[in-house]
Amino acid sequence: MDYEQAFRDAISTLKGEGRYRVFAELERVSGAFPTARHHGLDLGDPLPEVTVWCSNDYLGMGQHPAVLDAMTQAVAQFGAGAGGTRNISGTSHLHVLLERELADLHGKEAALLFTSGYISNEATLSTLARQLPGCVVFSDALNHASMIAGIRNSGAEKQIFRHNDPEHLDQLMRRYPADRPKLVAFESVYSMEGDISPIAEICDVAEANGAMTYLDEVHAVGMYGERGGGVAEREGQMHRLTVIEGTLGKAYGVMGGYITGSSALVDVVRSYAPGFIFTTALPPVVAAGALASVRHLKSSQAERDRQQERAATLKRLLTDAGLPVMPSTSHIVPVLVGDARRCKQASDALMEHHAIYVQPINFPTVPRGTERLRLTPTPLHDDREMHHLVDALKSVWSALELQTAA
Ligand SMILES: *Cc1c(COP(=O)(O)O)cnc(C)c1O
Repeated sequence: MDYEQAFRDAISTLKGEGRYRVFAELERVSGAFPTARHHGLDLGDPLPEVTVWCSNDYLGMGQHPAVLDAMTQAVAQFGAGAGGTRNISGTSHLHVLLERELADLHGKEAALLFTSGYISNEATLSTLARQLPGCVVFSDALNHASMIAGIRNSGAEKQIFRHNDPEHLDQLMRRYPADRPKLVAFESVYSMEGDISPIAEICDVAEANGAMTYLDEVHAVGMYGERGGGVAEREGQMHRLTVIEGTLGKAYGVMGGYITGSSALVDVVRSYAPGFIFTTALPPVVAAGALASVRHLKSSQAERDRQQERAATLKRLLTDAGLPVMPSTSHIVPVLVGDARRCKQASDALMEHHAIYVQPINFPTVPRGTERLRLTPTPLHDDREMHHLVDALKSVWSALELQTAA
């Protein structure tokens, strides 16, 4: 077996389809969000500055003074790492405080931290479905890869319901006897489409069929609801969800994932999930930063208001310019390209000629034929940056002869 040739072939396939991933090597500049320095091919000195338009640090909290102060203080006080798994010397007071804060954020009895949102989904879904013999998991067709991995690793039977379609979910559930354990897994904000799920309707169907509910609020925590509890908070639905899951790496600007739910449920995951048990705990410094961020966004509405205004303004400017903005009811602004190679070309042209960084989004993140640029305006993108972006997109669209709005 020529192993090296097999690896090269696998990469050639991606390149042939125009969806080989090239990372942009950046230095974020603390205090100058959303500006970053770009280590491009021909290294300039100083490095060229670019405006980042695709960050998931949606509110710029990764550079917020309260977060930076908390982390600086924590590193001086507690050092770098956690020193072990949660069970073996890795649980610090900050982990406990953060879990309390998160349980309170979502109105639940308990919370559990993980090293990432990905791990929280994988570990929790695989453990819950495995702990309930005969469990059937009902999964939205556009669920994130981490939820799909968790469901698969549980070994449970799975049914996929049409995206955001409670009627289809109901049809599928009715095929199973009332006494079969059931779990409905879905998201609030779908980050590639920018649409929002009908949480109340999905909970209605789940309740009628005696099912538990698992909601991924990764793209909504910090950003929706009066205290940043997510879309379920905004819509008064938090109490109806069995599990609410989130990340500390996007709007909260740091790193880590978590679940919230009843004490018994959280204790089961804490006690049975390999992805929680057998890995070193988050560094206390990360917990300190996340705690400061969650606390800040519980009481400050300014970032959320400004971000919603910025997103609405960008959608309007793009629409007025005839660019194909995809329908979105959230802060996410996807612009359709529809072809992997051209999506990459558009992204390259923006970086090279306009100092704008937007990563192309290709298959398998989105279906083939729906390749797109996904823009994430933040409270810190000003009008001048927005007009520059729209002008740059217009010029790239015409240079590459891309499709405009229908
Ligand atoms: C990013 C993402 C995750 C994973 O969260 P991380 O903290 O980045 O690991 C989970 N679910 C969804 C929907 C995501 O987009």
